Amino acid sequence: MNTNQLSERLSMVASFVPKDTVLADIGSDHAYLPCYLMNKGKIRKAIAGEVVTGPFEAATRNVALNGFADHIEVRLANGLQAIEDADNVETVTIEGMGGTLITSILEAGKDRLSHVQRIIVQPNLHAIAIREWAVANGFCIVDEEILLEDNKIYEVLVLERGTANYSKTDLLVGPVLRHKQSDVFRAKWERDMLEWQRVIKALEHAEQTEEIKRKKANIQENMDIVRKVLAHEEK
Ligand code: SAM
Repeated sequence: MNTNQLSERLSMVASFVPKDTVLADIGSDHAYLPCYLMNKGKIRKAIAGEVVTGPFEAATRNVALNGFADHIEVRLANGLQAIEDADNVETVTIEGMGGTLITSILEAGKDRLSHVQRIIVQPNLHAIAIREWAVANGFCIVDEEILLEDNKIYEVLVLERGTANYSKTDLLVGPVLRHKQSDVFRAKWERDMLEWQRVIKALEHAEQTEEIKRKKANIQENMDIVRKVLAHEEK
């Protein structure tokens, strides 16, 4: 991967970035995504935010090597603190982290989102946390994709301002993805079902405390939802 050739995962994120936008890429190790988008002439300017010094320095180096220092500003900052009001950031991308971490970054910095119209996220796990955050914070899910790369499955969610009524099924498997029902989507949930079965078996051997019982019930509920989705029984 380099600033001309992204992984399929990052290419998918890039494909949802609107033309001529002002972008903030948060957790921008190497600044691959903003440099690629600038190379393609797709964005006007970008902030690349990084909280760790090593990746921050790698991002700064790549931006300079590509001659984009006037258009991409690399900032050492925690989450959305990288965004200032005067930047007029319209699009935020956060990818390559767990859904819970992405959600905590969005929640901690939601006061920085005043000009933001679109948020594109690629959680490695727990996309449900981001969908729940979206509903609670006046965003809806306008598109979703799922892809397989190097035997790993990635979901990409596109959030825009708006409201929607999502069922538990929508929140768990994705209101858009569940209707697309691609082969990768089915493979993801077949894998997760096997993992849940393994966890339930392990929990059967543990002392049946209230917490263990709650965990099992929660997994069973999710398994029922997914079974119905895969059997096309969920409305
Ligand atoms: N976004 C790139 C990608 O998808 O290829 C890099 C993913 S890398 C696994 C996650 C990056 O996010 C790391 O460089 C990490 O330092 C950074 N990161 C984690 N938490 C962060 C936060 N709160 N604010 C900014 N960056 C963060």
